[in-house]
Amino acid sequence: MLRIESSDVIPARIDSSNQDAFQGRNFTLVKPRWVDDSQASSCKLCHNKFNQIRRRHHCRSCGLVLCNKCCSEKLPLPQFGSQLADRVCSACFPIASCVTMSYSPQQEFRLQAALSLSTLCRDKPAPVVALGGAHMLVNLAKLTQHSNVDIMVHISSAIHTLLMHTDLVEWFVSIGVLNALSVMLGVPSSAVALKQYTVLTESLNSLRTIAKANDSLKLKVAENACLSASLQLCSRQDPSISLVAATVVSLIAQYQPTHGHILAVPNVLRTIILKISNSEEEQITEQMLKILEVLSKGNDEIKHSITSEDAACGSLLAKVFQTNPKNLQIYVNTASTVGNLATNSIDQVLLQSSFNAVLSALNRSFPNYVTYELIRAAANFAYHRCNSQFLIQNFSTVVKLLNHSNASIQNETFRCLFNLFSNRSMDTIQLLSRNGVESFLTRFSEQSALMENTKNFLNSTKSNYA
Ligand SMILES: [Zn+2]
Ligand SMILES: [Zn+2]
Repeated sequence: MLRIESSDVIPARIDSSNQDAFQGRNFTLVKPRWVDDSQASSCKLCHNKFNQIRRRHHCRSCGLVLCNKCCSEKLPLPQFGSQLADRVCSACFPIASCVTMSYSPQQEFRLQAALSLSTLCRDKPAPVVALGGAHMLVNLAKLTQHSNVDIMVHISSAIHTLLMHTDLVEWFVSIGVLNALSVMLGVPSSAVALKQYTVLTESLNSLRTIAKANDSLKLKVAENACLSASLQLCSRQDPSISLVAATVVSLIAQYQPTHGHILAVPNVLRTIILKISNSEEEQITEQMLKILEVLSKGNDEIKHSITSEDAACGSLLAKVFQTNPKNLQIYVNTASTVGNLATNSIDQVLLQSSFNAVLSALNRSFPNYVTYELIRAAANFAYHRCNSQFLIQNFSTVVKLLNHSNASIQNETFRCLFNLFSNRSMDTIQLLSRNGVESFLTRFSEQSALMENTKNFLNSTKSNYA
């Protein structure tokens, strides 16, 4: 049972254990249960009482009992496995006839079916779902593939219209809508630009709705060919398409179990990194960086792939800082990505220019949330001994943040200096003696007190661990 526009709807079901309408050539639906004659004293549509003259008739599409006037249309219903003309009520007829027409091998009938249904999806979503209209869209996508772009236009807009009903999203995915969308995303580039644009934006917006719904649907999108199609569309010139595509992928990437699928797409990191550098739209850059940022939280192997790819592309991450974006989230995402990559010890040489960029950015004045990401990245770099010299050269940039008004920034600054101190104690002390020694030592003594407490705790509970 689904809820559409405040009414309960029993969606059509395929007459098999496999509910995917994209599988097989056509689908056959479970026949409607016939309402018993004795339970119907009047016509369900016109409400006139049945009598000797006004006889009862069953609609083969919905199973209700109606009078002859309301149930006079005749239609073959291949969706219920029937090739002969059957009685269909006037409420069912518009939708049932679309589904019937979609079974025709002739393109013009299919086009008519898709066109009419796209209007019905807007006006009568509940009966569309109950009578197999949603199944028809999925199946028609499969049958038509890329042979008729006009049909694709109607299918993609009808799917998007239905997906606006939140309760339908999960169910629509269960009957194979992702496969239909992946066909739509492959709309041939030879198609008329406006039609191509409509198919792509409608389908990407549908995917965004699905990816937004919940984590398990994010994973389903990631497992489908829709993912690599969306990633490819991120590189499109048209910013209104690449932005939605980037948003879709970045939504999916927010759920960590999808990362394996994302990284398995050929050249994915190159696609992302190049788009970060060559997009003129800051919103797109922001989304692409958001994808890279969550991926960079992965294991060392993933970090290494990102770092190597960035180095191969000419250290584009470091260059983001130089472009002076207005959108501050771009700095946050870049600094966070670089900071995540910085924990991998084997990549320090490749990351030099990124470290350099982080330190120069620290000289500028930013809101706290940006400065925090920058100093956090610097602290991660400071952990590696090979970066000590460079940090010593930029000591004054870092040390002044020790007295920053924000506690999290203070903490990361201390961590940065403490890491440097661990690697180069004498140099650090010498530099501190000129500036910041008091703040540093105060912090240090707090940490030492913490360590002392920890030691005491361990001693007191030693017997428990022995
Ligand atoms: Zn009637
Ligand atoms: Zn009916």
